[in-house]
Amino acid sequence: MDAAKLAEALLKREQPKYRLKQILKAVYQDGISTYDKITAIPAALRAQLTSEVPLLSVRASKVKVSSDGRAHKAALKLRDKMLIESVLLKTKPGETWTTCISSQVGCAMGCNFCATGLMGLKRNLTAEEIADQIVFWRQYMRENKVKGRLSNVVYMGMGEPLHAMESVLGSLRVLLDPERLGLAARHISISTVGIVPGMERLIDEYPQVNLALSLHAAEDKLRSQLVPVNQAYPVRELMRVLQYAIKKTGRKIFIEYVLLSGENDRVEHARALAKFVRKVDRQDLLHVNLIVWNPTDTRHQTPSREAAERFRDFLKMRGIGVTIRKNLGTDIDGACGQLITEDPELPKGKKSRKKH
Ligand code: SF4
Repeated sequence: MDAAKLAEALLKREQPKYRLKQILKAVYQDGISTYDKITAIPAALRAQLTSEVPLLSVRASKVKVSSDGRAHKAALKLRDKMLIESVLLKTKPGETWTTCISSQVGCAMGCNFCATGLMGLKRNLTAEEIADQIVFWRQYMRENKVKGRLSNVVYMGMGEPLHAMESVLGSLRVLLDPERLGLAARHISISTVGIVPGMERLIDEYPQVNLALSLHAAEDKLRSQLVPVNQAYPVRELMRVLQYAIKKTGRKIFIEYVLLSGENDRVEHARALAKFVRKVDRQDLLHVNLIVWNPTDTRHQTPSREAAERFRDFLKMRGIGVTIRKNLGTDIDGACGQLITEDPELPKGKKSRKKH
């Protein structure tokens, strides 16, 4: 929803001041999906707003639900018919839900294990399109009687968030605004492959937002092969910016590491990663999330469970905080690295994939 446009439409009609707050609450907080359902506002106004200020800039093309009900994946169509993906996840028992949202259609970063990288960048999402993914899931939860509250957001869907900086900063304003999505900064995480100037800006402007660095290799030669942007922002630069983040925010930083069989999952790679973590002051504030690679169309292989555990144990024995991230939603292609943007309204074969 474009809140500025809504404010303008209400002003034009000389509506009382509280009207804006009333509508914003219904849309952003309560997940109301049509103006008609906001019965507290006059019927004539509801009809006018319906044609003038659309509630959402995205619409569901298809939603799949995993067999355990803990992962819901939506293909969302934008106004220009392009498609993005968004996932709703219950990562732990309880009533809290997390959404993994997209920031771009496609991606320019070209990470070689990610098919989104192969499709290139189509365009950045607008701030409205980014924030509307959360509004969409709140509507979805209400309409489908999904119990609980969506209170965590991770920018880990399609695209590199810090390559769509202005849109992402604009969306953060919507997420954090108590009159709109009203999320807590510490419940928001932004994942990047290491765009250093963007990281610095984010750290300065939103120090309470969690930062995750998708590292995938801790030495330059291998990292440049897997993540080409490493040529612009090499490992020593990443170390420097992590030091800066820790000094400035004192908050935990997550290092994401996708394990690719035979490529970055051997003992020498674990040793390089341990060295990287240890070089950053306050090693206790870095936590490594290992992600066992999920098959996509690219040439890589999934490591065995044993290989992943060996890698984890190597780090653990050196006092490094490390977790093998649990994959949810593999049966709906909704797990990490497996998301597919496939237009259900198009013939088969037109697909794209993501991600960090
Ligand atoms: S892994 Fe992330 S940054 Fe790299 S190409 Fe895929 S979407 Fe882009």
